[in-house]
Amino acid sequence: MSILPNTSLSIFTVTENAKRPGSPNFHGCFYCRQAIGEKHLVSCVLIKKKVKVRMTVEFEMVEPANWSKDEMDFYWNDSSWCANNVLEILNEQFNTEGSPCLCNAAKFEYLGDASEPYSEER
Ligand SMILES: [Zn+2]
Repeated sequence: MSILPNTSLSIFTVTENAKRPGSPNFHGCFYCRQAIGEKHLVSCVLIKKKVKVRMTVEFEMVEPANWSKDEMDFYWNDSSWCANNVLEILNEQFNTEGSPCLCNAAKFEYLGDASEPYSEER
C-alpha cells in the first residue's frame, strides 16, 4: 500500500455534485476544497474504494445440550442450516432495547482492497 501526501491530486475531477448545502457559496468540493474542474485530492473523503473485511463476533446461541463441539461445528458450517438465521439472533442480542452494543462483541480486520478507487460524488 502506498501512502501519497495529502496534497496529491487524484484522477477524479470535481463536479457540481461535490458541493454541499453547508457551503453554498464555495464552488468546489466541500471536503477537499478543490475547485470545480480541478482534481479531488487523493485524501478527499469522496474518493472511495471497496475493501474486504473479516468480522468476528462472540455471542450466544441455543443448541441441544448433548451436542458435541463437532456436532455444533457441523450443524453451523456443513448442514442445511442457513447462516442467514444468525442475523435475527444478532439483532435480538445486540439491537434491542437495553441490549449491549455490537461493538462490545465484534472485531473487524482489513483483508485487502476489493476495488480500485472511485469517485462517490452525488
Ligand atoms: Zn474532494
